[in-house]
Amino acid sequence: MSLIARRHFLAGAGATVLSAPFFPALASLGDVRSLAFDNLHTGERLVTEYWAEGEYIPGALAQVNHVLRDFRSGEVHPIAPNLLDLLAVLRGKLETAAPFNVISGYRSPATNAMLRGENEHSGVASKSLHMQGMAIDIRVPGRSLAGLRDIALAAQAGGVGFYPASDFVHVDVGRVRHW
Ligand SMILES: [Zn+2]
Repeated sequence: MSLIARRHFLAGAGATVLSAPFFPALASLGDVRSLAFDNLHTGERLVTEYWAEGEYIPGALAQVNHVLRDFRSGEVHPIAPNLLDLLAVLRGKLETAAPFNVISGYRSPATNAMLRGENEHSGVASKSLHMQGMAIDIRVPGRSLAGLRDIALAAQAGGVGFYPASDFVHVDVGRVRHW
């Protein structure tokens, strides 16, 4: 095996191992996957079944994309369905029907650059996964921030950032890592 092929093989194997705990958790959700969001900036609430009978429901995904849009610019971007699956798993583990309180979903490149400019130490990354619809900043009414973080870490589904001073947890479906 060439070095490049071997690297590729190892990367693939690693991804499989790291995401393995996530998919059994998905199966535990049953035949329907539902989510609820309260967007704290717009005041909008969405309660939706976004997956049923083995398929994502396009109309529901469109509603999710809208409620998680860049509220500053109004730009709508597709939100990664596997991010929604992660949230559904977290919701199940938290044993709550409370909506996710959304601090930040999609961020346009312009908004992301503006947030970075406002505060160099805000934790806003230049290549933020928020710009790809792969990240969300949340808290859950009635559940502790540390509890949400711990469940997100246990899911091993991507990145987890803990921001107690701002009262939110960042979760994404990029590489498994935490800060
Ligand atoms: Zn974030």
